[in-house]
Amino acid sequence: MKKGQINVQTENIFPIIKKFLYSDHEIFLRELVSNAVDASQKLKFLSSNGEFKGELGDLKVEIILDSDKKTLTIRDRGVGMTADEIDKYINQIAFSGAEEFVEKYKGKEGAEQIIGHFGLGFYSAFMVSEKVQIRTLSRSKGSKAVQWESNGSPEYSITDIKKEDRGTDIVLYINEDSKEFLEKSRIQGILDKYCKFLPIPVIFGTKTEYVDDPSGEKDKDGNIKRVAVDSINQVNNISPAWTKAPSELKEDDYGSFYRELYPSTFEPPLFHIHLNVDYPFNLTGILYFPRIKENLEIQKNKINLYSNQVFITDSVEEIVPEFLTLLHGVIDSPDIPLNVSRSYLQSDGNVKKISTHITKKVSDKLAQMFKKDRKDFESKWEDLKIFVQYGMLSDTKFTEKAKNFTLVKNSEGKYFTLDEFQKKVKTLQTNKDKKVVLLYTNSVEEQYGFVQKAKDRGYDVLHIDSPLASHWIANLEQTLENVMFARVDSDSLDKLIQKDEEIPSKLSKEDEETLKPIFESELNGDKYKLQFESMSSDDAPIIITQPEFIRRMKEQQKMGGAGFYGAFPETYNVLVNSNHNKIEEILNVKTSKTKTKKVKQLIDIALLSQGLLKGEELNNFIERSIDLV
Ligand code: ADP
Ligand code: MG
Repeated sequence: MKKGQINVQTENIFPIIKKFLYSDHEIFLRELVSNAVDASQKLKFLSSNGEFKGELGDLKVEIILDSDKKTLTIRDRGVGMTADEIDKYINQIAFSGAEEFVEKYKGKEGAEQIIGHFGLGFYSAFMVSEKVQIRTLSRSKGSKAVQWESNGSPEYSITDIKKEDRGTDIVLYINEDSKEFLEKSRIQGILDKYCKFLPIPVIFGTKTEYVDDPSGEKDKDGNIKRVAVDSINQVNNISPAWTKAPSELKEDDYGSFYRELYPSTFEPPLFHIHLNVDYPFNLTGILYFPRIKENLEIQKNKINLYSNQVFITDSVEEIVPEFLTLLHGVIDSPDIPLNVSRSYLQSDGNVKKISTHITKKVSDKLAQMFKKDRKDFESKWEDLKIFVQYGMLSDTKFTEKAKNFTLVKNSEGKYFTLDEFQKKVKTLQTNKDKKVVLLYTNSVEEQYGFVQKAKDRGYDVLHIDSPLASHWIANLEQTLENVMFARVDSDSLDKLIQKDEEIPSKLSKEDEETLKPIFESELNGDKYKLQFESMSSDDAPIIITQPEFIRRMKEQQKMGGAGFYGAFPETYNVLVNSNHNKIEEILNVKTSKTKTKKVKQLIDIALLSQGLLKGEELNNFIERSIDLV
């Protein structure tokens, strides 16, 4: 037996390790299983390279939980270690066998699949153990099996042992504070999270587990007898879809991989992108487009980041642009530094390149779908639009491309690209300042009257009803030249698309002054601002509008992102059509009582058509109308 001191730079690394990432103690298992997988992969590699001539046998990693002995063992049939190798790779913390291996076999196929460093590596075992043993037999001919043991102080011992099988057992004697790791469900949970797609079979077995005797036999007290069984199952799928070439996969395979990733999500994704890059960085993965619902938050953070098939995290905000976090799926890249601070990640060159690459892939995919099958693309648009709009709002590079395949729908349900629609309406909807005014409604039903009036003039009205609408519209007004948007109910049509010719007013200034107080007395409060306007005679007698910019500010405030405007009061413009014959009629009514009555009725009708007539006022209107019958 040999004793020694683990060679650590800092005086005592163990107290630090024990406290390290307290909430992340579970990663010890990820580290140890990764090492076991590495040991197996190395052996496979050496065998195909001709350096290892023995039988590979059944290369698997076993996790054995023994709750009686309070141990957790991670067993592999990989390369194993000689006493010298333990001395080098374990006792001297500064050396990494994984790094050395990759360096030595650089450029050879398979060598870069070694997982290696995440951070704490092997020593993370001491976060949860009072004692750790390595029992190992090297693959080299004539090696002797050895056992390394340490209780977490920097002292260790090495002894010769008897061990027939090649490979390594890491035996953890779980400490008092870490009893949770002696529970089957806890370990199963960690394995499901980190090891689900490792490339070597990972088998989880509890030494004993008690279940009801299947024969139904009773004990002396009449209870069904409990019998001990060994329970064993394989945790992982060793060749998940993203590791295969796209040409090997059928549409169905992508669907079933999606279900494998999100067993509790019922709705299938719209389509997917298979990522496969090896230069200038290594990246594989499959991204899925979900049907995006109104509530963006619940869709987020479903992308899982892997490194060589080991799960790292499902929070990828630092790695992909914010709008891409709406996608689902897997990204696997050994080139993303995994053990550095978040702010560092954002400035990391590789991470930036990866993020740009993914954004490009996504916009290319959409562009290609649009080009290949426009009808199909249109049928998916309602589920896609929020994603595309979000992308346009947050990424200028994406906007550049997206402008060409972004669709808008008109009130009749027909789809156009932004270009197509502008061309279509240009002649009629260009105002006197040479701007094309794109009229829109957020609800064809609620604004039926406004939409109808616009259509009567030959205008085409867009139907824009996304939660991002007002941000997105503002963004388009900035990027498209000479285009502005106006909701159909935000002013009179003549004002919305102002032409050069003025419509003459039938009412004189004096007439307006006579009518004004009557209208004002029937409108309560500061909420409504009265205005006479010479509209066309077939427009409504009174139109109630909310100015475009006030409504947009309010909407943007609701979505967040325009906080500095403070609270906007609800204000509306009441536009009286000075060319409508009903208004002229009122002017000529003799008794002031009848005048007021008629004005009231017209105002209520205008309020009603904007959905603003409510409660007592609505009730009064209904009763008055019944009296009229
Ligand atoms: P890394 O994996 O990044 O090299 P670790 O601390 O996890 O760092 O492991 C240190 C080294 O110990 C490994 O590189 C490897 O040489 C050796 N090692 C650890 N576990 C095993 C194992 N199960 N079989 C063989 N060698 C191992
Ligand atoms: Mg390791």
